[in-house]
Amino acid sequence: MASDAPHNYRRPHWLCLTCRRPWPCAAQRRKFLEKHPRGARHRLQGIMRVLAAEAAQDLGLTREQADARFLVWTFDRAGRGGHQWPTN
Ligand SMILES: [Zn+2]
Repeated sequence: MASDAPHNYRRPHWLCLTCRRPWPCAAQRRKFLEKHPRGARHRLQGIMRVLAAEAAQDLGLTREQADARFLVWTFDRAGRGGHQWPTN
């Protein structure tokens, strides 16, 4: 898999079409964090809030579950370390 391959999701399952992982997959999160450096994260967080709400509807997630999947990592320091990410 090329490292610059797009990592897009498909509703209503919200799985990455490339890695087949729950989206946003690790590769996509890294892309997002590179595109929205610290100091400009609010824009990314705005995007992810909208997606979290949509995914919560599609997947029947609570708001807390959706935030954990879509938002928590945007606040994580540089997006690595510390935060355990579910892999299945
Ligand atoms: Zn992916």
